[in-house]
Amino acid sequence: SAFDEFTPPKFPDLSTVKARLVWNENPHGPSKMAAKAFQDNVWDGNHYSWSSLGELVQKIADKEGVSPENIMMGPGSSDLLEKTALVYFSEGGNVVSGDPSYMSLVSVAKAAGGSWKALKLTEDYQHDLDAMEAAIDEDTKLVYITNPNNPTATLTDTEKLKDFCKRVSKTVPVFVDEAYLELAPEGLDASMAPLVAEGYDVFVTRTFSKIHGMAGLRMGYMLGKKESLEGINKITRGGMGIAGPTIAAASASMDDEAYLTMCKDKIKEARDYTTSYLESRGFDYMPSSTNFVIFPIDMEGDAFLEKIYDKKVVVRAFKFWDQNWCRVSMGTMEEMKYFTDAIDEILV
Ligand code: PLP
Repeated sequence: SAFDEFTPPKFPDLSTVKARLVWNENPHGPSKMAAKAFQDNVWDGNHYSWSSLGELVQKIADKEGVSPENIMMGPGSSDLLEKTALVYFSEGGNVVSGDPSYMSLVSVAKAAGGSWKALKLTEDYQHDLDAMEAAIDEDTKLVYITNPNNPTATLTDTEKLKDFCKRVSKTVPVFVDEAYLELAPEGLDASMAPLVAEGYDVFVTRTFSKIHGMAGLRMGYMLGKKESLEGINKITRGGMGIAGPTIAAASASMDDEAYLTMCKDKIKEARDYTTSYLESRGFDYMPSSTNFVIFPIDMEGDAFLEKIYDKKVVVRAFKFWDQNWCRVSMGTMEEMKYFTDAIDEILV
C-alpha cells in the first residue's frame, strides 16, 4: 500500500484546537462575494438549479478553453474521482498511479473490483512516468496522476507530463488531478487542460475546496473528452449533488480575482515561513507546490500525534518508504507559529 495510516490517538475537540492544519483547507475563505451570493440564493432553494448550473458550465468552458460538453460538474472533485473509478473498474482491470499518492480514486477502483499498480515516485519525488508507462498492460483501464501530488506536495515536470499524456492517452485514458495546481508557483500554466481541448483522452479535475476556500460548500469539476464523459454520465449522473447556493458562490468566487490573489499570496507567506523554519532546525522537507508541506520526523506517527494534539495543533502523520512523516497544511500565520512552537517542543 502507499502508506500506513496510523490509528491516531483520540482527535481533540475541534472547538478547542488552536491550529487546524490537517485537511489542507484554506483558512482565508470563502470570498465575501461568494458568501453573499450563497446567502442571496437560498430563497431560490425550491427550484432545481439546472439553468444556473448551465451558466456556470459555460463560464468554466470559457475559462478553460473547452466546450461545455467537455465538462462534468460535481459536489467537490471527490465525487468525480469516485464516479470515474466506479465506471472504469466495475468490470475489473487495473489503475496505474504513483506511490504515495492521493487514494480516493484508487480506493474506489479497488472496492469496485479493480486492482492497483503502485509505482514509487522518483528520488526527487516526481511521478516516475517511465516506470508508469512500462507498467501499463492490457488490463490497465486508467492512469491516475495527482499533480501536484498529495501527500508529497511535489509537481511533476510539465513538459514530460504533457508528452506522457499525449502518448499514453492513445492507448489508455490519463486522469490528472489538479486539486492544488492554482497554488503552485507555475499556476495553471502547468495544467494538462489544453490537451482536453486538443481532443486527447485526458481527464483533468479541479476543486473549489483549495484556492477558493469552499471545502464545506462542495464544488468541483472535471474536464474530459466528450465521449468519455458521456460514458460516465450514462451510469452515474454529474451535477445532481450540487446545491444551488453553491453554484452562485462558485461563480462569484471565480470573479473575485483580488481574493484569489490574496489567498495565493498568504498561502505562499505561510509556506515560506514554514520551510524557513524547517531549514533553520535542520529538517529536510519536500519542495512544496501546494498549501501543505511534508517532512520526515524521527518519531513514530502515533506518538508524535499524541504529543502535538496535546498542544491543540492538528496535523497528519504518514509512514512510507520506511520513514515517518508529518504533513502540515498552511493555516494563518498565527496558526503556523503555534505549529512551529509545538515542533520546537516536541522534536527539536
Ligand atoms: N484530490 C486531491 C489531490 C486532494 O488532496 C483532495 C482533497 O484534499 C481532493 C482531490 C478532493 O477534494 P474535494 O472533494 O474537496 O474537491
